[in-house]
Amino acid sequence: MKLTIVGTGYVGLVTGACFAEMGNDVLCVDLDARKIERLRAGDLPIFEPGLKEIVLRNMTEGRLHFSADVREGVRFGTLQFIAVGTPPGEDGSADMQHVLAAARAIGCHMSDYKLVIDKSTVPVGTADAVREEIAAALAARGMQKIPFSVVSNPEFLKEGAAVEDFMRPDRIVVGVDDERAALLMRALYAPFQRQRDKLVLMDVRSAELTKYAANAMLATRISFMNEMALLAEKLGADIEQVRRGIGADARIGPRFLYAGCGYGGSCFPKDVKALLRSAADVGEPLHVLTAVERANERQKHVLVDRVLRRFGPDLGGLRFALWGLAFKPDTDDVREAPSLVVVRELAARGASIVAHDPEAMERAREALGELPAITYAESPTAALEQADALIVVTEWKTYRAPDFERVRELLRQPVVIDGRNLYEPELLRACGIEYHPLGRNAPAPVATPLALAA
Ligand code: NAD
Repeated sequence: MKLTIVGTGYVGLVTGACFAEMGNDVLCVDLDARKIERLRAGDLPIFEPGLKEIVLRNMTEGRLHFSADVREGVRFGTLQFIAVGTPPGEDGSADMQHVLAAARAIGCHMSDYKLVIDKSTVPVGTADAVREEIAAALAARGMQKIPFSVVSNPEFLKEGAAVEDFMRPDRIVVGVDDERAALLMRALYAPFQRQRDKLVLMDVRSAELTKYAANAMLATRISFMNEMALLAEKLGADIEQVRRGIGADARIGPRFLYAGCGYGGSCFPKDVKALLRSAADVGEPLHVLTAVERANERQKHVLVDRVLRRFGPDLGGLRFALWGLAFKPDTDDVREAPSLVVVRELAARGASIVAHDPEAMERAREALGELPAITYAESPTAALEQADALIVVTEWKTYRAPDFERVRELLRQPVVIDGRNLYEPELLRACGIEYHPLGRNAPAPVATPLALAA
């Protein structure tokens, strides 16, 4: 099939590359001409495991193309994916200007049937708005007879595992209200579901809400566990043991139960805000989700609170090593990352920060601007030299098993403040490190029967 992807960011590029990999002919369009130039030269503007190989292979084999020309994009694909950004507006609602601009462009340039697919995360009712925008643009050209369909096909990929998620989705949600569109969507996604039928067909509004409900549920689990961790700390319990205890319940399941220093990224914060706004607009306030957001705001400050508790309110002259800037591992995305809050707050109190991240240092530099308090280290160990404490913000694999003797030697004060509970408290204490995890004040568990027998 011939596909156009409007918006070549994290979602658009992965979508385009993965559909090309399945043999489709794909043109990825973006208004950002520099981004398109880089892509044409085989230089990816984002880091995502496995993506570069797929992009380069499909470019070489002639199935994946890039263009900054919107008209060319509209003419190219029978299927037009809208994958542009939907950032939060001032009142928290999703800013729809890019989605509607993309729809308008489609209406302005199309000359035959188009299936328009909303892949961006958009509030309920957006497909109707997109339909109206296209119809108005067609009418303005006197071409209202040209047929088109609009479907909702929200994306559930996770940054850091985007290619894997796209290629092997848990489910493919499609909101559709006409047969022709349903048929095309079935054919498009057939290669991704050879083992079992993953297509969840539903009405358009339910599909739009499904995406927000999924992210809101995941954010709820995170905030819930973060509050449990704070409580565990006060009560002398260990959140890691609690996590294992509840995760073994089939009704709860083990995933998304890790306490941490707050959720970030380009999706959860903005999608929670947008859903709260939509709900308020129709007079149906979401009390649980309101609390989820509030808890997360508090959680982003939890590491700095620990620093202040340990070092006092004036951090002048102190230096902190920071491991991890990306909002999660395996991505270079720092949008809404807890690391940014930590860096800014430490800097505001006079501290200096030496940060390391395997992929996100360039993005962090852009996001933080010229902040003299922060410098970037070549390696995790280089960041530690002469630092008064190590603060772990992102759980990259490379930080999971450091040489703790070396960590202690390099730090000026052997203090580790861990926002991701990466290490065993007993082990660090045995190495002479003062360890501050989240919610892990309990005594070590008793020896297992096996250990006793030995
Ligand atoms: P992004 O900011 O990385 O990319 C969006 C791109 O769209 C940019 O390159 C921008 O230049 C381009 N653009 C804007 N208006 C345009 C127009 N009119 N024509 C052509 N290009 C245009 O955003 P993203 O992270 O890929 O997210 C896109 C959408 O997908 C959002 O709604 C987001 O909520 C949703 N989503 C994101 C993820 C994720 O992990 N990033 C996951 C699922 C869903």
